[in-house]
Amino acid sequence: MERLIKMLNSDLKLKSYEIIDGTIYLNVESIKQDLRCPLCGTISTRIHSRYERSFQDLPIQGNKSIVVLSNRKMFCGNSQCPRTTFAETFSFIGYKSKKTYRLEDEILNISNNMSSVAAQRLLRNGVANVSKSTICLLLKKRNNH
Ligand SMILES: [Zn+2]
Repeated sequence: MERLIKMLNSDLKLKSYEIIDGTIYLNVESIKQDLRCPLCGTISTRIHSRYERSFQDLPIQGNKSIVVLSNRKMFCGNSQCPRTTFAETFSFIGYKSKKTYRLEDEILNISNNMSSVAAQRLLRNGVANVSKSTICLLLKKRNNH
C-alpha cells in the first residue's frame, strides 16, 4: 500500500488504511519539505494548521479508493507578502478538486466511446463514484484543450 501511495506522489506517506464496503480509504500525510508561498515564492517551514482533504484516486484491486489527506496550511514567512497563510498544493490534483488527474484520465478513457449513462454505470461498478454530469464536464474541459 505504501508503494501505491508513493506511485501517486513521492511526498506522500501512508499512515493507515481500511477497506469498507468495497472502498479503500487511505489515510495519508505529506512529507513535502519545499513548501512555497504561491504569491511570493518564499519557502515556509511554519505550519499554521492542518485540515482533512479527501479525494478519489484510481481503483486498487477492484476497490474504489479514497485518499484522506492531512493537508497543511502554512504561514508565509515573508513579512512583506500580503499573503499571510497558504495551503499546501500538489501536482497530481487540482486545487479543491475531488479527483486526481490520473483518475480523470481514466474516466475520460472509459467514457470516450460510450454514452455518459453507460459510462456512469460502468465506472460506479468498481472504478469511481462519478455522476453523468461530471463525465460531461470532464469531456468538455478536455476537448477545449
Ligand atoms: Zn508569501
